[in-house]
Amino acid sequence: MKVRVRFAPSPTGPLHIGGVRTALYNYLFAKKNGGDLLLRIEDTDQGRFVPGAEEYIIESFKWLGIKFDEGVGIGGPHAPYRQSERKDLYKKFADELLEKGFAYYAFDSAADLEAKRKEFEAVKKTFQYDVNTRLQMCNSLTLPKDEVEKRISNGEQYVIRFKYPENEDVVVDDLIRGTVKINTSLLDDKVLYKSDGMPTYHLANVVDDHLMEITHVIRGEEWLPSVPLHAMLYKAFGWEAPRFAHLPLLLKPDGNGKLSKRDGDRLGFPVFPLEWHDPKSGEISSGYREKGYLPEAVINFLALLGWNSGTEQEFFTLDELVENFSIEKISKSGAKFDLEKAKWFNHHYIQQMPDSALADLLTPVLAAKNLSFPQEKVLKGVAMIKERVHFTTELWEQCHYLFEAPCSYDEQAVKKRWKHGTPLHLTEISKFIDEKYSISQMHDFVMDYIQSNELNMGQIMNSFRLALVGETKGPDLFTLIDFLGVDETKKRLFKAIDVIGERE
Ligand code: GLU
Repeated sequence: MKVRVRFAPSPTGPLHIGGVRTALYNYLFAKKNGGDLLLRIEDTDQGRFVPGAEEYIIESFKWLGIKFDEGVGIGGPHAPYRQSERKDLYKKFADELLEKGFAYYAFDSAADLEAKRKEFEAVKKTFQYDVNTRLQMCNSLTLPKDEVEKRISNGEQYVIRFKYPENEDVVVDDLIRGTVKINTSLLDDKVLYKSDGMPTYHLANVVDDHLMEITHVIRGEEWLPSVPLHAMLYKAFGWEAPRFAHLPLLLKPDGNGKLSKRDGDRLGFPVFPLEWHDPKSGEISSGYREKGYLPEAVINFLALLGWNSGTEQEFFTLDELVENFSIEKISKSGAKFDLEKAKWFNHHYIQQMPDSALADLLTPVLAAKNLSFPQEKVLKGVAMIKERVHFTTELWEQCHYLFEAPCSYDEQAVKKRWKHGTPLHLTEISKFIDEKYSISQMHDFVMDYIQSNELNMGQIMNSFRLALVGETKGPDLFTLIDFLGVDETKKRLFKAIDVIGERE
C-alpha cells in the first residue's frame, strides 16, 4: 500500500514553527517511503478564519522548499482539498452515524449548558456531556421521535454529537507514544456536526483522511486527546484506521512549557517562518526569512528538534534527511528550542553559500546607497567578511567599511586606543603606504617603525584600524589596506587624524 500522509493546517493565523516541523516530518516520512504528501486546508471553523493565512502557509513551504504532491494550490485526484469547499459531502456521514446509533441530535442551548455547568460546579464537579449525563439533557435520546423531527423541520438549532458506547476500552497503538488506552465512559460526546451545515474538525478530519486514503496521521501531541474519538469514528464507519504518530512538543528554551506565539519576539527569535502582519490588530510578528535565516538552516535545525539520526552527523540537506529519517528515532519527550544552535546552523549554511550568492544580496544594498563597485570588488569584499556573518541581514553591518569610509569613530575605542602622539605616528606611518611598496613591505615598514620607536604595538595598530573602520573590528589590517588601496587608506588615515585630533 502506498504511503499517503497529509499536513492539515487550519487557516487561523500564521503557521507556527511547530507546525512547520510537523509538515517537515510528514514530508520526510512520505519521501523516505516513496509516498505522497497532501496539503489540506481545514477551514470548517469559519469563526476562526483569518484572511491571508492560507496564502501565508503556501508561501512558507515554497520558501522552505517543502513540496506537496497534492492539495490546495496544486490539485489532485481528491480535490477539492479545502474543507469549506467539501462542505456538502459531510452531511451524509453524519447521517450514517445517526442511523447506526453512533450519534444523536442535541438541542441544548448555550444557556442550558451553562446552567448545567454551574449546577455541577456548585457540588465541586465538572460537567461533561457524556454517557453519564446525556440522559439528563435535551436530545434525541430523551425526546420523543416526533418531537425531534418537529424541532428539526422548524429549523431549530441543533448539533449532532458522537455517542460513545458505555464502558468500552479504546486502545490505539501510537507509533511514538506507544499504547494509548482510555475507557469510553470517561469521554465527552463531542460535537460532530452543526445545524449551520458545517462539520466540526473531528468529523471532517476523519472523513477526509479516509476519503483521501491517508495511511499515517503524523501530527502534534496536542491532538493526542482526540485519538480515542477518531479511532471510534473509524470503527463506527467500519473503515480501517490509519496509523497514528503524535509528535513531541516544541518547548521554550528553558524547557518550561510549550513554545508559544508570544515567546519568539520576547526571547529574540521568530516562531513563524515568515514575517506576519496581523490583518486585525496590525501587529507584526517576526519571521525566519526576514531575520536573515536560510531555509536550509531552518529545515536542518527543526528536523533535529525531536528527531536524531542516531549518529554524530549534524548537518543534513533535505535529501539527506529523507534518507536518514525514521519515525522510530523521534523522541517521546519535548524538544527545547535552542537559539544558539539555530544561529550556529545558519552560520554554517551561510559559509556554504557561494560568494557570488552573497554578492547578489549585497549589490542591491550598495545600489540603494548609491555606491558602485566592480563585481570582483564586491566578491572579494564578501569573501573577506563572510566568516563573521550569521544572518544574511548582517551582511552590510559586517562589511560597510569596505565600501564606505567611516563617518564617525567609536568613542569607547577612541578613548582606549587614540593617545597623545597618535596623529603624529599615523602621519609618519602613512609615508609607508605607497604604491611603490608591496603589502608585505608596507607591513614590515610599519612594524619597524613601531619597534624602533618603542611604541605599543596594539595601540598603534588599533588606532590605524580605527581610522580605516571607525571601530576596532574587521579583518587583518594589511588585508584591509590591500582591499581599500593606497589612496583610500591614506584618505581615511588623514580624515581620522583631522576629525579625532590630538587626545590625552
Ligand atoms: N486542522 C488541525 C490543525 O490545525 C489538524 C490536526 C490534524 O493533523 O489532525 O492542526
